[in-house]
Amino acid sequence: MSKRKSHRVRIEFRKSHQSKTRDDADLTNDYLEADGEMDTVNHERVSGKGATSRRRTVVVDADSSGSADKLEQVELSIETDRTLVGMVLRVHGLDCVVRALSGDIYSCAVRRVLKNVATDQRHVVVAGDRVTFRPEGTDQGLIVRIEPRRGTLSRTSRKRRHVIVANVDQIVIVTCAAEPTIKPNLIDRYLITAEQNQLDASIIINKCDLIDPADLQPLIGNYAQLGYRLFLVSASRGWGIDRLKRHLANRQSVIVGQSGVGKSSILNAIEPGLNQRVQAVSQDNDKGKHTTTTAEVFPLSLGGSIVDTPGIRQFQLYDIAGPEIAGLFRDFRPFASHCRYPNCNHIHETDCAVKDALADHRLDVRRYESYCQILEGLDEEYA
Ligand code: GDP
Ligand code: ZN
Repeated sequence: MSKRKSHRVRIEFRKSHQSKTRDDADLTNDYLEADGEMDTVNHERVSGKGATSRRRTVVVDADSSGSADKLEQVELSIETDRTLVGMVLRVHGLDCVVRALSGDIYSCAVRRVLKNVATDQRHVVVAGDRVTFRPEGTDQGLIVRIEPRRGTLSRTSRKRRHVIVANVDQIVIVTCAAEPTIKPNLIDRYLITAEQNQLDASIIINKCDLIDPADLQPLIGNYAQLGYRLFLVSASRGWGIDRLKRHLANRQSVIVGQSGVGKSSILNAIEPGLNQRVQAVSQDNDKGKHTTTTAEVFPLSLGGSIVDTPGIRQFQLYDIAGPEIAGLFRDFRPFASHCRYPNCNHIHETDCAVKDALADHRLDVRRYESYCQILEGLDEEYA
């Protein structure tokens, strides 16, 4: 028996699985490309091809198995070709909760071939991912494709990047003017996280009813000069909420901030009942095992969504070396490259352009002190 013939026999024997196999190969390719720079135009072409392949298989099967089956199989083929697009709201173990464009919620598994191409990520699908899935029944489905990600928020731990949430447009840092007192140093830490993830950042200062906003002018001026947007609000009085809403509409925002600053109150001021939804999920998570870094996306009725989970509310720095910190301080960047030593820490070194800038008031003292504190704190964080 020639090699060629035995090959043909094998294909015929596996005919019923043929389209699936071919499809899987396409998707692997698809996903790998997606990780790079694939666009939606490409996506359409690939799905079209998948549909044709399947139809072709059905015709071949029908020829050998009679016309009654043919009808049934064509129907089946139409059914399997029906896919929907949606956004992953959260991932719990193997289960992904996906919200379709219609707003319907589906509990989806991930197609095995997609799992196999997972390399350095803990989960191949993460909250915020845009996916194509094949619905099964009214509320189940199978994810067959993951769209290329835009902004991601990730954590680096032991040199491994762990994506927490995908397609993030911005980080919204929540602080408050009083009770507890404002901690600019903490704001700077969150800003580092934003810079590290190359995400836009904005700053909300809540509880402005408790102070004279003029007292905040130096701080506001400082951040505004760096290009960060600020929102002075009072969740309890409803001040500044409309402007904040416009800022959140149609974007995916990750909310971060210390507890007690008023995040829950702000969420409810933005959308009544929103905080209750967040709380309910947090309590569920506490009972389960996937507590710390599971992110949850909450769609907003004004469009867009917010990501708010206890695990990422209080971010810590991971795997950032000293000299990298300065690069994440926007205002240091123009000077840091002119220091005498390339790995200058801008503390004790001679011929340090950052310290020169500080002496000439070209750099803000408070930001420099904040930098020093973060740098000192690094050792403790890794201990
Ligand atoms: P979270 O821990 O960040 O979610 O903060 P909460 O929303 O639970 O608020 C913490 C406390 O601050 C609560 O006692 C709120 O009533 C209070 N609070 C929240 N927003 C404001 C505000 O705009 N002004 C004042 N005075 N108190 C606020
Ligand atoms: Zn220096």
